[in-house]
Amino acid sequence: MSKIQHNLQTIGTEIAGDCQRFGRDAASVTLLAVSKRHPASAIREAYDCDQRAFGENYVQEMLEKAEQLGALDIAWHFIGPLQSNKTKDVAKVASWVHTVDRLKIARRLSEQRPQTLAPLNVCLQVNVNNETSKSGVSLDELGELLESVSDLPNITVRGLMAIPEATNDTTRQRQNFRLLAGAMARLNATGYQLDTLSMGMSGDMDAAIAEGATIVRIGTAIFGERPTA
Ligand SMILES: *Cc1c(COP(=O)(O)O)cnc(C)c1O
Repeated sequence: MSKIQHNLQTIGTEIAGDCQRFGRDAASVTLLAVSKRHPASAIREAYDCDQRAFGENYVQEMLEKAEQLGALDIAWHFIGPLQSNKTKDVAKVASWVHTVDRLKIARRLSEQRPQTLAPLNVCLQVNVNNETSKSGVSLDELGELLESVSDLPNITVRGLMAIPEATNDTTRQRQNFRLLAGAMARLNATGYQLDTLSMGMSGDMDAAIAEGATIVRIGTAIFGERPTA
């Protein structure tokens, strides 16, 4: 068995175990394989183990891999910082963008989404701990942003995404994820129908599932350490 195959099995088992432990349906959590800086061959290996959703952080890298693997039925999720001069490429290739944090980007994605494709699925990125180093809208401004983007025709706002502060303290991890889950619950109570919480990475996946993650974004635990060059 290859390393990637082994890791995918291990994570699948861990997700199923978490779901059981926290009283959730196993089908309610989607594993997004974060393949940034790993070669197309690694993606193909995971694909051969039935993995279909892959996350990329860099526009150029996603485009190249999508081209190389064009014959495969892959859903590309863009999860990196997005500049407005790159929205057009992303709108053409991605099924999902997890990192929308301002109206201008959302507008451009909607305008540039090819009419031949289904609407682009979007998550609003929230800076739950107000870290200056991180992108994302603040919890305070989230409602206003959601209102302004929710009527755009060619994107569908599915939910919220966060990269909370890095901590090994599982209590803190859960508190931070709960901030995002709580925000979505409050928005839905006002009439929205958001169904996606994109939260949890290799180091905090269990806490994220405990707090309601529906997409976990896992890189290292599947593909190993990322090459630095
Ligand atoms: C790189 C990355 C991940 C995956 O992180 P790992 O710790 O390798 O699992 C998840 N989400 C985002 C936004 C990332 O940039």
